[in-house]
Amino acid sequence: MRKEKNKVVVVGAGAAGMMAAIEAARTGAEVLLIERNSQPGKKLATTGNGRCNFTNLDMEDLAGGKYRGQEPKFAEIALKSFGPEKVVDWFRSVGIEPKYRGTYVYPYSDQAVSVVSALWDEAEHLGVELLFNTLIRKVRKDETAGADNAGGFLLWVEGSEAVIKADKLILATGSKAAPKTGSTGDGYVWAKALGHTLVPQVPALTAIKCKGNQYRDMAGVRTDAGLSVKAGNEIIATEEGELQLTDYGISGIPVFQISRYVAYGLREGKDMSVYINFLPHISDKKEDIYELYKKRAERLSYKDMGSFFTGLLNQKLGNVILQLAHIDRKQPVGKLSKKQLEAISSLTVSYKAECVEVNPFANAQCAAGGISTTEVSPHTMESRIVKCLYFAGEILDIDGICGGYNLQWAWSSGYLAGRSAGNNA
Ligand SMILES: Cc1cc2nc3c(=O)[nH]c(=O)nc-3n(C[C@H](O)[C@H](O)[C@H](O)COP(=O)(O)OP(=O)(O)OC[C@H]3O[C@@H](n4cnc5c(N)ncnc54)[C@H](O)[C@@H]3O)c2cc1C
Repeated sequence: MRKEKNKVVVVGAGAAGMMAAIEAARTGAEVLLIERNSQPGKKLATTGNGRCNFTNLDMEDLAGGKYRGQEPKFAEIALKSFGPEKVVDWFRSVGIEPKYRGTYVYPYSDQAVSVVSALWDEAEHLGVELLFNTLIRKVRKDETAGADNAGGFLLWVEGSEAVIKADKLILATGSKAAPKTGSTGDGYVWAKALGHTLVPQVPALTAIKCKGNQYRDMAGVRTDAGLSVKAGNEIIATEEGELQLTDYGISGIPVFQISRYVAYGLREGKDMSVYINFLPHISDKKEDIYELYKKRAERLSYKDMGSFFTGLLNQKLGNVILQLAHIDRKQPVGKLSKKQLEAISSLTVSYKAECVEVNPFANAQCAAGGISTTEVSPHTMESRIVKCLYFAGEILDIDGICGGYNLQWAWSSGYLAGRSAGNNA
C-alpha cells in the first residue's frame, strides 16, 4: 500500500470542496483536493446560465423559507458565520468584483468560469495539491490508526492500485443533480458505509410533468401566477412568480421552488396537485373573479367567447380555459350562463395541475435530501459519528431556493469544514 503524507483530503473540487480546501490550507494544513473530472468546478461553471449567481444579500427567513431539509435550522449557524457580505469580501480578495442585481450577486465579469478560475488559482497559490481525473470509488476508516487517533481514512482510486491515506477527510462530492457534471451521489454511499443516515434524495429546483393534453396547447405561455401545492386536500407550500407552461406541464422559478415538495409527496404515494391562480395581482378569491367576469361579460356582450379573455389572459391560456369549461369559442359573450361564469372563474383562480412526476436529476439544479444533519455538528460540519470526517455543500440534507442560495450554502459549509478540519490538523 502506498502511503501519502496528506493530512486533510477533500473529495470533490466543486464549489464547496474548493472553498474547504482553500480554507484548510489557510490554517496551515497540508491539503489534497481530489476530483474525478479533468478540471474543477464543472457544475459551478454552468451556474446562473453561465453567469453564476453566487450569493444573495436577502437572508431573511432562512430555516424552512430559503433553506429546506428535515432540519433547516442546521444551516443557520454556517450561513450567519460566513454569510453573503463575507462571501462577497472573500471573493473580492481573490479578484471577483461583485455585480448586484437587486439582492442577487454575480461576478462583475458575468462569467461563472471566472469564479472557477479564481478558486482554482487561489488553491494552487496556497499549495493545495490538486489531483484530477481521479475517481474515488471507496472510502473506509483506517482501522490501523492508533486508538487515540480517531481520524484516519483510506480512499481507493478507480483503476489504480493506489490507496490514499487521509487524517482528516472532507466529503464534498455534491448530490445526484446534473450528473453529467460529475455529481453522481458517490459520497452518500461512503457516508452510509461509515454509519451515517441518509434522508431520501429527490430532484429539486426542476419542472413538473402534469396530467392532461391541454399543456400542448399552452406550451410557451409565460404568466404571473400564484401556486398552492396540495398533498390530497392539504396545502403544503405556496409560491408566486412567473409561471412557464410547457408541452408536458409547468415550469419556471416558482415551480422550481415548490418541486421538492411535489417530489417528496409523489415518492410517498400521495395525490399531488398544484392549484394555479392566473390572476394573482387581482384576487385569489373565486367570488371576486366571478364579479370581474360578470361585468366583463356585460361590457363585451357583443363579442364571441373566443375574444372574452383577450387583453386579460394570454390567448392560449384563455382558449384552454374555454375548452376545459366546455364553452364554444363562437358562443356570444352575452349568452354566458351563471354556471359557465362559475366554471371559468374557478379555472382562472384555482386551475388544478395534477402532478405526475418531477423532472429527473439530470434536469434538476439541486437535490433535496442527503446526509442527515442530525449527525453533523452545525458549528464545524464534523460528523458526530466518525471523528475527523467532515461534510460540505449539497451532500448534506440542506437545499436552498433559486437565487444564489445553494452556492451560498456551499461557501458557508465549505468554509466551516475547511477551517475546522485544518485547525485540528
Ligand atoms: C444548471 C445549474 C445552474 C445552477 N445555478 C445556480 C446559481 O446560479 N446559484 C446557486 O446558488 N446555485 C446554482 N446551482 C446549484 C449549485 O450549482 C450547487 O448547489 C452547487 O454547485 C453544489 O456544490 P457542491 O460543491 O456541493 O457540489 P458539486 O458542485 O456538485 O461538486 C461535487 C464535485 O465532486 C466531484 N465528485 C463526485 N464524486 C466523485 C468521486 N467519486 N471522486 C472524485 N470526485 C467526485 C464531482 O465531479 C464534482 O466536481 C445550479 C445548478 C445547476 C445544475
